[in-house]
Amino acid sequence: MITHYLKKRIFTYFLATAVIFLLPFVRINNNHFFLLSFDKQKLHLFFVSFNTNELYLMPFLLIMMFVFIFFITNLLGRVWCGWACPQTLFRMIYRDIIQTKIFKLYAGRKNKQNPIRNNIIKKILSVVLFYFISLVAASNFLWYFIPPEDFFTYIQNPNEHLLLLGIVFFLSLFITFDITYIKENFCAYLCPYARIQSVMFDNDTKMVIYDEGRGGLIYKDGVKFTKKPLGGECIACEACVKVCPTHIDIRKGMQLECINCLECADACSVVQSRFNRPSLINWNSTNAIIKKEKIKYFRAKTIGYLIFLSILLVGLIYKANHKETMLLNINRTSELYSVKKDEVVNAYSILLQNTDKKEHKFYLEILSDDKNIYIHKPKKAFSIKAGEKTPRILVLKARCDSTLKEDKNINIKLKAYATDDDKINIIKDTVFIYPKGELCKIKKHKY
Ligand code: SF4
Ligand code: SF4
Repeated sequence: MITHYLKKRIFTYFLATAVIFLLPFVRINNNHFFLLSFDKQKLHLFFVSFNTNELYLMPFLLIMMFVFIFFITNLLGRVWCGWACPQTLFRMIYRDIIQTKIFKLYAGRKNKQNPIRNNIIKKILSVVLFYFISLVAASNFLWYFIPPEDFFTYIQNPNEHLLLLGIVFFLSLFITFDITYIKENFCAYLCPYARIQSVMFDNDTKMVIYDEGRGGLIYKDGVKFTKKPLGGECIACEACVKVCPTHIDIRKGMQLECINCLECADACSVVQSRFNRPSLINWNSTNAIIKKEKIKYFRAKTIGYLIFLSILLVGLIYKANHKETMLLNINRTSELYSVKKDEVVNAYSILLQNTDKKEHKFYLEILSDDKNIYIHKPKKAFSIKAGEKTPRILVLKARCDSTLKEDKNINIKLKAYATDDDKINIIKDTVFIYPKGELCKIKKHKY
């Protein structure tokens, strides 16, 4: 049976590329699916807008991302590398399409080991052509940080946006350098995921495996001791080795360089089909091959990951739906307190942000058992437009207590609220300081 992993991978890549490319253009209520805008200090997630100081969703997202990587790697090995990683896709575009099909620098796609034809003009042209693809890729990447509607406006005024142009230029240069010069060495030596993925594998993980039982032993302790195994079904044609983009022999066993592209499995399936046999190289688990059973997708580890992911997802949805409609930051001013006549004054600088979609009027309230403390300033409610923030000086006063032997800190709560919507409010803790009694006698002093 001939396998067609390559066709399936190409289809997956088309789908993933279309989604990644078009997603920044999709907006609902002017919000993007994902956008981390540094200049506007906004995070858009699932078409909901958050301010960057509301990044309490980020820990959920980061933990989910790591747990998902653990889960998918334990389940399907390096499926990301072969089926979704941009590095693999760009290498396929550069090597298989530009170098092989367009400029005929390689003899054919099925033999990636052949030395490249030494035609310097064609080599340069292939790099230049790929640079234009890198430019599109770099721009596409940036659309998740600068939305396309701004990006295209900015690049029409290059003089005012030199930094952006510089980032696009150097990012595309780096992509071109990586794909045309570093090549698969990136996967083997630079990619951190390649380094750590093997510790997430177990004997039930789906990976690219040469069936030694059928094919015969070729390597012993990593050393090749025969070309053609006696009595094995492997005919030593080496089609699997020649087609491998990372230049490894999968018959040696699982290797760090294997990017799970399954081109070796496709190649062997063609060879073995001549003998009416299935491929000796399969996307299978070690246990499934040894015990001749089906892959166990649902096992304690994968179920555990799924439960943890579900809990995180529920937490993320809950948090996203209980978005703060206002934010409040309180900082004390540089002086501890001041005494004016018989009153003690504590001053704070506060920053209020209206994260709601409408303008509101806001005011403040002190929540404390000490009813002596009152708000001296601001005297009345003030408006803040939708999404905007405003700094204010808050001055609290209280009658000085001349019986105190030393300074006394009182924990108080400051409530900020919208006067026109009782659902919009926030409470923050802070401290009010009374000076020792002897200072009350001084008519006016700052400390
Ligand atoms: S393609 Fe299959 S038969 Fe040919 S060398 Fe590789 S494993 Fe053996
Ligand atoms: S051994 Fe080579 S061809 Fe086979 S899956 Fe790994 S990287 Fe691809």
